[in-house]
Amino acid sequence: MTSGHTVHVIGAGLAGLSAAVELTRRGAQVILHEATPRAGGRCRSYFDRTLGQTVDNGNHFVFSGNEAVRRYLGELGTADQLEGPAHADFAFHDLSDGSRWTLAVNDGPLPWWVFDARRRTPGTTLAEHLALARLALSRRGPATIADRVDSNGTFWDRVVDPMMLAVLNCPPSEGSAWLAWRFLRESFARGGRACRTMVAVPTLDAVFIDPALAWLRARQVPVHFGARLRDLKMDGDHVVALDFGAGPEAVGDAAVVLAVPPWVAQELIADLVVPDRFCAILNAHFACAPPPGARPITALIGGTAQWVVCHAGRISVTISGADDIIDLDREALAARIWKDIAATLGCEAPMPTYQIVKEKRATFAATPAQDARRPAARTRWRNLFLAGDWTQTGLPATIEGALRSGEAAAQLAEASWRG
Ligand SMILES: Cc1cc2nc3c(=O)[nH]c(=O)nc-3n(C[C@H](O)[C@H](O)[C@H](O)COP(=O)(O)OP(=O)(O)OC[C@H]3O[C@@H](n4cnc5c(N)ncnc54)[C@H](O)[C@@H]3O)c2cc1C
Repeated sequence: MTSGHTVHVIGAGLAGLSAAVELTRRGAQVILHEATPRAGGRCRSYFDRTLGQTVDNGNHFVFSGNEAVRRYLGELGTADQLEGPAHADFAFHDLSDGSRWTLAVNDGPLPWWVFDARRRTPGTTLAEHLALARLALSRRGPATIADRVDSNGTFWDRVVDPMMLAVLNCPPSEGSAWLAWRFLRESFARGGRACRTMVAVPTLDAVFIDPALAWLRARQVPVHFGARLRDLKMDGDHVVALDFGAGPEAVGDAAVVLAVPPWVAQELIADLVVPDRFCAILNAHFACAPPPGARPITALIGGTAQWVVCHAGRISVTISGADDIIDLDREALAARIWKDIAATLGCEAPMPTYQIVKEKRATFAATPAQDARRPAARTRWRNLFLAGDWTQTGLPATIEGALRSGEAAAQLAEASWRG
């Protein structure tokens, strides 16, 4: 990129931070604008007074094979702060019958684990695992997972449903077969080395957000907080001005990367088609030390809690597709969730101090219909590019997708200067 080209990046979530880092690396002069007083968007940490701890808005898992995560954290110098198991072992507990097992994916790309009943989920067959390959036939289109995989029986209840609910954040039977396959082909299909579940330690902010702000500031990138973009002025095939509330400011020959949530992008660009169905994620944090020997992450089936994560001095639970319970009373929710934790970790103490974090529009619902509404990063305005987990990344709404979208917008901005 020719040194000196200016790019306004709007939104300091992961997509905006990724775009800002990538553009700066390529020699552009970036100006980052964020509406709120802080960066991180839907991937953030905060000090919770009730708990007396800094917590993440929700447990965020990435996979060891996530390539954009590796590039981004490698640039920031925090890649070693992702922690996870040595092998891709997934601990499960079915609360309906008390059974426990570990799904153990072997390290290499040849999936011999599916041939070994001790590594598979109890009650499932080799043929059912091999049938997942039918998802690979999926192209971007109307097929749902249930169109490709039998949605009745143990394999669905214990393998497809919990995994795909976590990945797609919508009822798996409605989930896009194409997006499911795009996820699988970059994780499980590449073997255990690519699908170890990694968590940012100590917090999301410490690993993904604060180091990005420090990296940008060290390179003299202005970061404006409390700068909410209110209007984009277009003329012909160009964005000509940005309005942050003090009237239109001409952008000259600068480019603009719009990395805001889809509903904001839609308000700013009236005829932009964006996903318009969202699903909730609920997280519950309990201020107590996990019992000695507790597994770092356990997937629960048959209860309210779905993923139980043990942190130092805290147990956190994630519930995806939480729309049915999101409006329930907090005390009642905490009691239900604590009951599940107590059953799985064997905690006998009364319910500790807790916090419930509700994200009603956590991600777009990864159905075929919603995927069809995701716009490309390139727009019909020559200096305007879109970024965000909701753009056409070819992945569900994930950290990996958000980071890739920022990289893609940066590459397009560079290409626009090259002509
Ligand atoms: C509870 C929860 C759990 C999750 N768990 C996982 C997980 O386990 N693994 C995973 O990979 N992903 C997970 N995700 C998804 C992940 O957090 C998102 O994919 C990612 O953070 C999206 O980043 P983004 O930059 O696209 O959007 P956002 O984070 O929404 O960023 C948009 C930014 O734009 C700013 N903004 C809005 N309007 C304006 C305006 N007018 N002007 C300027 N700025 C504006 C916002 O304040 C925000 O900072 C989870 C999400 C949630 C909510």
